Amino acid sequence: MKNTILNIAVDTPVSQIFDYYLPKDSDQIPKIGQRVLVPFGRREVIGFIHEVSDESSLPKSKIKYCKSIIDEAPLINKEAHGLISWCKNYYHYPLGKTYATAVPKYLRSGKTPAIESMVFQKSGVERKLTTYQKKAFDNCVELLKKPSPVLLNGVTGSGKTEIYLQLMKKALEKKQQVLFLVPEIGLTPQLFEAISSRFGNCVGLIHSSTSEKLKAEAWLSARENKLSIILGTRSSIFVPFRKLGLIVIDEEHDESYKQQSGLMYSARDLAVLRAKKLGCGLILGSATPSYESLLNAENGKYNEVRLDKRVFSNKPPEKRLVNLNINPSSKGLSAPLLNAISQTLENGEQSLLFINRRGYSPISMCEECGKIDECPKCESNLVFYRGSLKLKCHHCSHQEEVKEACSVCEGKKITIGHGTEKIEEELEAKFPKEMIIRVDRDTTRSNKKREEVFGHVKSGKAKILVGTQMLTKGHDFPNLSLVAFVNVDQGLFGSGYRSSERFAQQYYQASGRCGRRDKKGLVLLQTHNPENESLKALLDDSYIAFYQKNKVDRKRLGWPPYTYSILIRAESPNERNVFIFLDAIAEFIEKSQDQKLIKVLGPIQSPIGRIRGKKRGQLMLKSKNRKKLHEMGGRLLSFVDTKKVGTKVKWSIDVDPTDHS
Ligand code: ADP
Ligand code: ZN
Repeated sequence: MKNTILNIAVDTPVSQIFDYYLPKDSDQIPKIGQRVLVPFGRREVIGFIHEVSDESSLPKSKIKYCKSIIDEAPLINKEAHGLISWCKNYYHYPLGKTYATAVPKYLRSGKTPAIESMVFQKSGVERKLTTYQKKAFDNCVELLKKPSPVLLNGVTGSGKTEIYLQLMKKALEKKQQVLFLVPEIGLTPQLFEAISSRFGNCVGLIHSSTSEKLKAEAWLSARENKLSIILGTRSSIFVPFRKLGLIVIDEEHDESYKQQSGLMYSARDLAVLRAKKLGCGLILGSATPSYESLLNAENGKYNEVRLDKRVFSNKPPEKRLVNLNINPSSKGLSAPLLNAISQTLENGEQSLLFINRRGYSPISMCEECGKIDECPKCESNLVFYRGSLKLKCHHCSHQEEVKEACSVCEGKKITIGHGTEKIEEELEAKFPKEMIIRVDRDTTRSNKKREEVFGHVKSGKAKILVGTQMLTKGHDFPNLSLVAFVNVDQGLFGSGYRSSERFAQQYYQASGRCGRRDKKGLVLLQTHNPENESLKALLDDSYIAFYQKNKVDRKRLGWPPYTYSILIRAESPNERNVFIFLDAIAEFIEKSQDQKLIKVLGPIQSPIGRIRGKKRGQLMLKSKNRKKLHEMGGRLLSFVDTKKVGTKVKWSIDVDPTDHS
């Protein structure tokens, strides 16, 4: 084995792989996926054996020896190795960094936790499915036998969770493992509870607050088939399993499944890939499926199961527009909305006010000279926080004390527009006796706070809830009968081709939270544009009907899901460098294609033109031909590498972007 060369993936930003000899005097047979300790520069680091070969392009004298091979059996099994390689290629991301994204830190530091066996024994009592649920369940069972993913398109409150649980049971009874993904950490406690009370102590949890050691334990246990179920957020898609039988992606439309920095993967898309490779079942569930998934269902790539009936109330909530042009609002709340809240309180029920903006107010301005407080480092207004009396930037960590007088003219400062804090304040003034709970990223930072907040919501103690979309995701509030959209115009008329899809999803998700059980629900939408066509369509139609209309525009304008795209972002303190770089790429692409299958849009300044003192620009590549687009990604990567055009900027490639800022 003298000439054996180990190709090692090391966590560095270069896309290169590093060659080493086996440890001196070693008689170990190296296996792909094992961890190794290698000298790297002046340090020693943990790497992964990505390939084993018998030659190297390096001269022999340059090749160093590995210090040691850490694992007996490969830590990364064959399937996980395939997944990592695929990600590296598809997302054009450095191999070592891809490993670093996929493997928990604890394991990457060379440590191996002890694990115990937590496997499925037997299942607890199940609920009797309603007739509609039963039909959908039977359909799912049949369709899961086929190779394509199943899209469970079931309205909010239709009882999808019970269907997931019963499908999981089928897999568990066959001694298979299950991966259950949710978009958001806030949804894990209720599901953990539901899953473990049904199947016992055989569930591992992986999300951003799980300790590194516990993550590693769950990861290893799954690989050893000593753990039957993993419940987690996005990153758990990388957990290797020995006998994966079913993947469930709940709220499959949710954008949190896409990572927005580093390896910009989509956990949903990776689930589709893994299910196909492994031949295991995949359920994509949502009341508001992504346009991508709906189109896949139309094209026969996914099998769709519809569930249009709610478990409890068959009546959809009543929907009403509140015209803010004739019903002026005081600090965001109009008289019809206040009346509806009072009525709801009288009935002993809960109200939910939705506004997708944290803080007190997005603008703090001088009444005299009109100066708006801006972040010194970003092209962005500072958000006014009343609780802490701070002005904060939502794009960097900058914050400053609120000053009463304008720094230019000493004039009086005022706030314009409203966020969750202002609505909360106004509600407290109007309903001083009631418990009002605000749910946003600021009030749910720690596990403890989050549990406390949702505890009050669930117990029904909190009578009025104000929150961002965090509050509308997947929660089941039995006592909620009023949902209000405080500022429809902000969501519906946002920028970007996805804004109407996003708003429609928020709208159906949030309005679906009310009027569960036997209660009749009411949904109020405050707007200055009551005549808007999209808004009327939202009110009159189902989500699917809205999609049917909306997709025509997407197709006409050539946006995803009818095309594929790659977004190149670049930033530098010096704006010129940003555009020199992006222009070079744009020119390279135009030159290196004669058929013009790839359309180049830009370069343009990014929607937020400066963050942390760096100017930002972007370039969009669009094509109907996914393969050609992917190839171009690879070619421009080597162009940047060889021509060294990217040295003066920080840049990234985002494949299938969902966020264009
Ligand atoms: P979805 O995820 O589709 O929005 P849920 O799974 O939250 O819906 O179910 C809505 C409510 O119906 C929950 O309170 C759930 O406990 C209840 N439920 C679901 N299935 C049944 C059933 N078969 N019998 C009684 N209650 C059910
Ligand atoms: Zn900033």
